[in-house]
Amino acid sequence: MIKPHNIYIHVPFCIKKCNYCAFFSRACTEPDWDKYEENILKEIKYWSRKLGKISIPTIFFGGGTPSLIPIKTFENIISTIKSNFNLDKHCEITLESNPGTLDKNKLSDFVKAGVNRLSIGIQSLNDDKLKFLGRIHNAEQAKDLLIAAQNLDLRVSADFIYGLPHETHQDIINTCKDINCLGLTHCSMYELTIEPETPFGTMNLQLPSNEEMAEMYTAITENLNLPRYEVSNYASPGQECRHNQNVWDGEPYIGIGQGAAGRILINDVWYEQMGEQQKFEEISNQVRAIEKLITGLRQIRGVKLDSNIKKIINFDFVNNNPELLKLISENRLAATEKGMLILEDLLLNLTR
Ligand code: SF4
Repeated sequence: MIKPHNIYIHVPFCIKKCNYCAFFSRACTEPDWDKYEENILKEIKYWSRKLGKISIPTIFFGGGTPSLIPIKTFENIISTIKSNFNLDKHCEITLESNPGTLDKNKLSDFVKAGVNRLSIGIQSLNDDKLKFLGRIHNAEQAKDLLIAAQNLDLRVSADFIYGLPHETHQDIINTCKDINCLGLTHCSMYELTIEPETPFGTMNLQLPSNEEMAEMYTAITENLNLPRYEVSNYASPGQECRHNQNVWDGEPYIGIGQGAAGRILINDVWYEQMGEQQKFEEISNQVRAIEKLITGLRQIRGVKLDSNIKKIINFDFVNNNPELLKLISENRLAATEKGMLILEDLLLNLTR
C-alpha cells in the first residue's frame, strides 16, 4: 500500500526574469504550451502507473509563473490528475501568480478549474522598489489581484522581499503596517539574497549588514499581525500552506515538469526523483532523516520525530541546550526563537 503523495508541478516560464531571481525559469513571451501540456500529462500518467491510484492531499503549481498557463491547459492537467489518482475531497490546489499576468476573469476561470489557494508575488508595495527588483507589475495591480482573489473567497497568500539596499529597520516596520492593512491570512517574507548568476549578482549592491537583517527579521515578528509558523512564513492558525507543511514534515511528493524534484516513498524505501527517468535514486534512511530534520526544524511546530530521525539526533545536546531546542511533545522537537536564528549551526551540533 503506497502512502499519499503530494504533487508539485513546475511551470518554467516567465514574461521577463526579475533582477534577483535564480529560480529555474526562462523569459519566454510565447511558450509552447501544447508541448508543455503533453510532457506534464505524460509524467502524471507515468507516476500513476508506477505508484497506483494513490490519494493526493495537495497540488502546488510553482514557478516560474504558473498564472501564465492557458486555462485549457490547466483544466487538462487537473482532469488528468483526477482520472489517474484519487484526489482528496479537500485537496489543496495552490497556484503561484505574478500580478502582471492575471486579471480577475482569468483568476475566476482558474477557480472554476479547481484552484482553491492563490499565492501572489506582490514583493513590495512601493513602485520604485518593484522597478528596482525588475518586476513587471506595480503595487496597484498587485492589490487589485489580491482584492479579486479575496472577493472570490480564495485562500490567499502574498510574497514580499525585504532587506533591499538602503532599507532600514523603520522601513520594515512601515511595510509590516501596510501589509497588516491588506487583510491577508498568509504571507511569506523573504530576505533579499544576491545570487551570482542574476543581474543583481553583477551590480555590487550594498545590502544591509547581517546585524541589520537580523533586526529586520525581529521587527517583522513584532509588527506583522500574523504569527510565524516557519522561518519565512506567517499565517493565521489554520491558514498555513498544507502543501509546504507536508513537504517540510517529510511526507512524500512527486515533482512534475522540467526542473521539479520529488521524494517518492515505495515500500518504506525513499527515492530522490527528477522528471520521469531523469533521476530516480534510492536514498538511505539516514540521508532522508537529515533532510527531514533540516526542513522540519524550520517550522515553529518543529520536526516530527520518527524512528529514523531519533537515531541521528544527539539527545544529550538537546537536553543540555534548552535555550536553543525544546521537545514540544513526545513526537516533535522544535528550535526556540534563539535557536531559529542559528539554525545551520544548530543542525551541525544536533546530529551525531
Ligand atoms: S516572476 Fe518569479 S520566477 Fe519569474 S523571474 Fe520573477 S521571481 Fe523569478
